[in-house]
Amino acid sequence: MSTNEKANHGGEEIDVLVVGAGFSGLYQLHKLRKAGFSVKVFEAGKGIGGVWHWNCYPGARVDSDYFLYQYSLEELWKDWTWTERFPDRQELVAYFDYVDKKLDLSRDISFDTRVTSATFDTTADRWVVSTQNGRTIRSRFLSLCTGLAAKTLFPDYPGLNSFKGVVHHTSLWPQGGVDLTGKRVGVLGTGSSGLQVIQESDPIVAHLTVFQRIPNLALPMGQRKVTEQEQNELKKELYPIIFRRRVQTFAGFHYTLVDRSLLDLTPEERRLMLEDLWGRGGFYYWLAAHQDIFSSEEANKIVYDFWRDKVRKRLTDPVMQAKLAPEVPPHPFGTKQPSLDRCYYEVLNQPNVTLVDLQETPIVEITPSGVKTKDGVEHALDVLVLATGFDALTGSISQIDIRGTDGTPIGEKWGKGVATYLGLSSAGYPNMFFPYGPQAPTGFCNGPSCLEVQSDWIVECLTYMREHKHTRIDATPAAEAAWGARIQELAAPGLWDRAKSWYVGANVPGKPVAQINFTGGLPMYAKLCRESAEGGYVGFTLSHL
Ligand code: NAP
Repeated sequence: MSTNEKANHGGEEIDVLVVGAGFSGLYQLHKLRKAGFSVKVFEAGKGIGGVWHWNCYPGARVDSDYFLYQYSLEELWKDWTWTERFPDRQELVAYFDYVDKKLDLSRDISFDTRVTSATFDTTADRWVVSTQNGRTIRSRFLSLCTGLAAKTLFPDYPGLNSFKGVVHHTSLWPQGGVDLTGKRVGVLGTGSSGLQVIQESDPIVAHLTVFQRIPNLALPMGQRKVTEQEQNELKKELYPIIFRRRVQTFAGFHYTLVDRSLLDLTPEERRLMLEDLWGRGGFYYWLAAHQDIFSSEEANKIVYDFWRDKVRKRLTDPVMQAKLAPEVPPHPFGTKQPSLDRCYYEVLNQPNVTLVDLQETPIVEITPSGVKTKDGVEHALDVLVLATGFDALTGSISQIDIRGTDGTPIGEKWGKGVATYLGLSSAGYPNMFFPYGPQAPTGFCNGPSCLEVQSDWIVECLTYMREHKHTRIDATPAAEAAWGARIQELAAPGLWDRAKSWYVGANVPGKPVAQINFTGGLPMYAKLCRESAEGGYVGFTLSHL
């Protein structure tokens, strides 16, 4: 762009604006820079790491094995050593600092810079992006690396604002921490975040009250310390193989679903196999299982029953057994994300822990001193932890006022149901991409595995456009409709709609309920993206001014 043009438009002018400095945003900054694009990152928080910056609640910890949950770039992994199989938030923050220094990223990141709106200027094929702190930037491309969990979901109980104690949502936990020592702590929600807070807080609090609606079908984490020596061994030969393997498996791990029916096994074979998966810890029991556990009620019931019996053995009180590991599954196993537990059930055995079953005694209101349930009991609290999750996937994007070629805000377009092509772009919002977002493998995939596939695709696409002098790329409405149909077709044989989860948007009141993840697995997804690119970006319209 000439100096005159720049003067006419005012503000900064760049090739790509990346929104969010988490796993995706940092990777894109690095890769796009290397490809010769001018790139800036706008980050709402005060530090890098995305969810790992924001989610600083007690006990926050990743649930992918350490060697999978990192960038595949050798320049990074060769000099980095992890200490635990499933690293905690502190270690992940240290990893991001290391990545930052190694790749010299921060010089192109603006912190405390929340993007509030973006409008596509059809006369110049550019996005005009504004921030809360009054900055405006014009960029040829917009990459929304806002992740799946950037829009917090608050419960709407009456009286929440009247609570006189300390109240925080897990994703907006104060960076300086909250001292829970000797306090009466209530945790509302038992998803991954709630479970982690519960495990971590129990030893120090005076009393813990757990407000559970649907039990978490948690799996044993299998946490252990990992040594430098074992990692050096892995680095010699296995790391490159693991990173290649990551993109060949359903969920971006180093293991994958078994392409047979669980029902083909004899009861003895099943028993041995389930014991083996259980003993491995992590998500083996879920994502190295026979694939028909996601489509056959009979197969699913087998893995549920095994899970229930294992968990019941860890609980001492029959009432707790019935509430935490019910006889009848609350939903098919694995159709809502299971969490990894270290000592969750042992904590719930403790005498200073009360489990409030919200299905039996729903919350009526939050009072100045605690939580009042339908049975008239007021649970007195000093601290209330809202572990109520997110308006996942779509919320991260639609909370920004993004207007495409016809001026419609994307939140309005997606209000009736999300519509994307390849889970990367949306028709009428040209030159805009969103890795690790809706209608991609996101919810069923190890983050770095998925976002590297998508980000590499984006960098290639932008390079192709530069070479061919295209200034605009837009998904066609037909390709978008076909992608939406494919998402639902892939999900149709599954049991997904039987759980009220964020996978299908059912956790947010009023959100259309339908599968919003690509359930065909990462290899199929990567193949479809590759086919579009190799065909000259099939399903997109490319043009120039
Ligand atoms: P979540 O899985 O959506 O869990 C939210 C919890 O809050 C559920 O137990 C839900 O109950 C409850 N809840 C929501 N609204 C409520 C209300 N009005 N009243 C009572 N209970 C309410 O959210 P999350 O735990 O934050 O986890 C979200 C995702 O983030 C995870 O699935 C995972 O992908 C990711 N995550 C990962 C890690 C990790 O890597 N270890 C840690 C945290 C989060 P119902 O079940 O009855 O709806």
